[in-house]
Amino acid sequence: MPSPLYYISTRGEASALNFADVLLAGLASDGGLYVPESWPSLSEVASANPADTRALSYPAFAAEAMWPFVAGTWQQSDFTALITDAYSTFNHPDVVPLVPLGDPADNIWLMELFWGPTLAFKDIALQLLGRLFDGELKRSSGQITIVGATSGDTGSAAIEACRDRDTMDIFILHPYERVSEVQRRQMTTVDSPTVHNIAIRGSFDDCQDIVKALFADEALKDRLQLSAINSINWARVMAQIVYYIWATVQLEGMGKLGEVAKLGEVAQSEGNVAFAVPTGNFGNVYAGYGARGMGLPARFIVGTNRNDSLARFFSTATLSTGEVSPTLSPSMDIMIPSNLERLIFDLFGRDSTATADFMQQVRQDGRATLPAERFDEVGDVWTSRRTDDPATLEVIGKTYRDTGRLIDPHTAVGLAAAQELRTEGEPTVVLATAHPAKFPDAVKQATGISPDLPDSMADLHERTERYAVLDNDLATVSRYVEEHARISAD
Ligand SMILES: *Cc1c(COP(=O)(O)O)cnc(C)c1O
Repeated sequence: MPSPLYYISTRGEASALNFADVLLAGLASDGGLYVPESWPSLSEVASANPADTRALSYPAFAAEAMWPFVAGTWQQSDFTALITDAYSTFNHPDVVPLVPLGDPADNIWLMELFWGPTLAFKDIALQLLGRLFDGELKRSSGQITIVGATSGDTGSAAIEACRDRDTMDIFILHPYERVSEVQRRQMTTVDSPTVHNIAIRGSFDDCQDIVKALFADEALKDRLQLSAINSINWARVMAQIVYYIWATVQLEGMGKLGEVAKLGEVAQSEGNVAFAVPTGNFGNVYAGYGARGMGLPARFIVGTNRNDSLARFFSTATLSTGEVSPTLSPSMDIMIPSNLERLIFDLFGRDSTATADFMQQVRQDGRATLPAERFDEVGDVWTSRRTDDPATLEVIGKTYRDTGRLIDPHTAVGLAAAQELRTEGEPTVVLATAHPAKFPDAVKQATGISPDLPDSMADLHERTERYAVLDNDLATVSRYVEEHARISAD
């Protein structure tokens, strides 16, 4: 059994925690993000014989790959059962199928991460997270009230992950009449007494401000045991590490790795698998970097839309903020990606003071620059391109004409970056983060075809919706939550 792993904060002031505590803490008390004290080695995970690894199902492999991160806080058999249960909600026998994009000889692949209950990749982490929270709370006889704001995807994924559990109620705020119909229905048609959807007469920012204010009310927070399932939670990163390794093991099995270094031998600049990742909050692609930290020979192509602070950071070493513009890939409309702090921490050689200063400067001045010596080797691992809306539509159209595949606008941003930045024949995996039917308007505009919802969701437009419409007013929302949360009713 591996020895228990501890997690440290990027800001260096919070105490190190084990997995169970890091799960419930989310953000560190010093405002930093938790990262593992050191990366477990892939050699502990991938069995000596890769063929044995390939013979595992995805859930069985995931249980092995994540075990070093949780060891010491869970029973292995309980943990494995929980993962199997989480991925039984997926609508594809392979869970995360890897399909060739066009001719397999081109060596460019789509990894479809969208077969979960809400048709976007966030289900992979959140289906697990809901069950992990539930397990920890049962153990401590705890109960929580989850409150969050959504502009679309995260809300439904969190609701599906937390519904129908004795240990938690969930309240999700969305801006009234400002989310797509599919997105709204995915949240509001969930038939569970513990799920509460609130449409706020205001913007997404108004929703976020209300959630922040609810958390700032210490008495309320304490009374209702308010909790967030936010994108910086370590367990979300952990769950996402798995499919990077899985994809590489599959390619190896197909003889597609060519000159790539073996698992466990991280390549310096050449001999990597290139992962192209449509990126918003930097959570998904940071997980790939975690897999690299464990020994995966991987490099990363970061796709951004018009909100291109990452593309500029990876070419200039300067992180700068700005106004967020709405695009066809709304889940990536982010200027300051919160998980980037985890990478910055490593680029500073894990100097928490330098990291805290850098983040502070970004907040104060709207920009900060990494010292040149810290940026030297970044290009070996990280490249990035921005793709605007017209080019996104072109890529969706061209992909359909060339391969017969429909891709969603987020995936298209990743693919566009891959097409520009991969070298010919380089094994390349583009992460497909949403099902095309989740963004039917853009897909129809680009191809003339309206993608069908999967069978499990075919009647989404006939299901009964349930939600409250409330004014953009803190007291009103606070009263509503208090009246409907089970904890306060006890
Ligand atoms: C959340 C999301 C992204 C961005 O992922 P990050 O982890 O925030 O970088 C990309 N595509 C889709 C469809 C998403 O829902």
